[in-house]
Amino acid sequence: MNFLYVGIDDTDSPDGMCTTFLASTIINELNKNNIEITGFPRLIRLNPFARFKTRGNGGVSFKIAINSDNDIDLAKEIILRNVSELSMFDCDNTNPGVVFYQGDITDEMVDYAFHAIYDIITIEEAEEFASKIGAEIHKFKKGRGIIGSIAAISCPLDDYTYELLAYRHKDKYGTVRQIDYDSVVKMDKETYPETFENIDGKYLAIEPKTPCPVLYGIRSNSPEVLDIARDIVIPNEEIVDYCIFKTNQHTDMHIQNVDNISDMKQYACYKVKGTLIDNPHVIGGGHMFFTLADDSGEIECAAYEPTKNFRKTVAKLRKGDSLELYGGIGEQNTFNIEKFQVLKLNDVIYENPICKCGKRMTSAGKGKGFKCKNCGAKITDDNKVAKKINRELINGKFYETPVSARRHLSKPLIRMDLNKY
Ligand code: ATP
Repeated sequence: MNFLYVGIDDTDSPDGMCTTFLASTIINELNKNNIEITGFPRLIRLNPFARFKTRGNGGVSFKIAINSDNDIDLAKEIILRNVSELSMFDCDNTNPGVVFYQGDITDEMVDYAFHAIYDIITIEEAEEFASKIGAEIHKFKKGRGIIGSIAAISCPLDDYTYELLAYRHKDKYGTVRQIDYDSVVKMDKETYPETFENIDGKYLAIEPKTPCPVLYGIRSNSPEVLDIARDIVIPNEEIVDYCIFKTNQHTDMHIQNVDNISDMKQYACYKVKGTLIDNPHVIGGGHMFFTLADDSGEIECAAYEPTKNFRKTVAKLRKGDSLELYGGIGEQNTFNIEKFQVLKLNDVIYENPICKCGKRMTSAGKGKGFKCKNCGAKITDDNKVAKKINRELINGKFYETPVSARRHLSKPLIRMDLNKY
């Protein structure tokens, strides 16, 4: 079977639209014209540190089984017309790109997809690559969207999840979303952990916080459970459409293995082992920092204010603790922590000895042992006494940021087989 692969990206702005909604609108019009897409449309998240992203750096792709040349021409006309009519062209940072590709997904295309998830790609580089693989590109304005569109077509999905997106009536765009909170709690109770990241206390995680067309998005491991979940959630406003996307969200696809701290680059995401060389400390704005080191170097690691209570967990770490951190190096050149596993807690403190009179001794000067201010006793042994302390954190255990602060690509612990670690 011959397929036409379609990639679309960079159609929205902080003021509105969403590439998933545009894709869903296109798919509806294709269907009306008897052009069916094969499988689910795909929502592919790319490098979270890409500079010109609107929110979650997502591109969309889908594929159409080709029956006749007519189908191709009509499909392309429908797609390009919708992108040119519905994209948020007023925004400087909206530079849509549409890519059409016919043929097999090659190894070099898979490499390109990882490149777009791990690194930063220029428009020129994407254009050259498109010409190399024989893809047809359509650039609107600067056409930056071709970078993500090629990646969305090329990305392999060995691990994947689904997201059901419900779209609002356009008269409601920008207004407070009306979703019955209790019904979301019920949905979570009945479908978790097959669905996940639905709520976080009072925080409705299924609800976007931007003026985009999405009323809610429910994330899951399977498409079947989404029908059940959708029937439980009560919207108190009209839903004009639904669309289920297959996606690399919540798979940790952005995380690269790295052996040395010194090998890590800015704007990339890693899992990295190291030891704290200072105690966590808070700076203005409530951001929590510590320094992680290994034999090759050190890096400042951060749990920023939006990670809320996760900072309290980080605060329980101490100098000497060994961890494996997951996260990425952002704008400030700090490692933004997404989650960590405790490898070995430092559960020893060193104290001045207790005198035979019962009081704690003080130092008698460098290299001169200890003295007791109470009874005057002296000892010449200069070594402090090791004492085991209780730690609230647990060796081997993972700790993650709350749902409200989690990246789309981050794999939540509930999706991880923790026995393997
Ligand atoms: P939303 O999540 O609301 O759909 P977004 O966060 O995906 O929006 P876009 O408006 O799609 O943001 O803009 C992201 C831009 O970054 C696109 O032009 C995309 O092609 C480009 N891009 C994606 N990955 C990379 C990368 N690795 N390097 C450089 N640019 C990239």
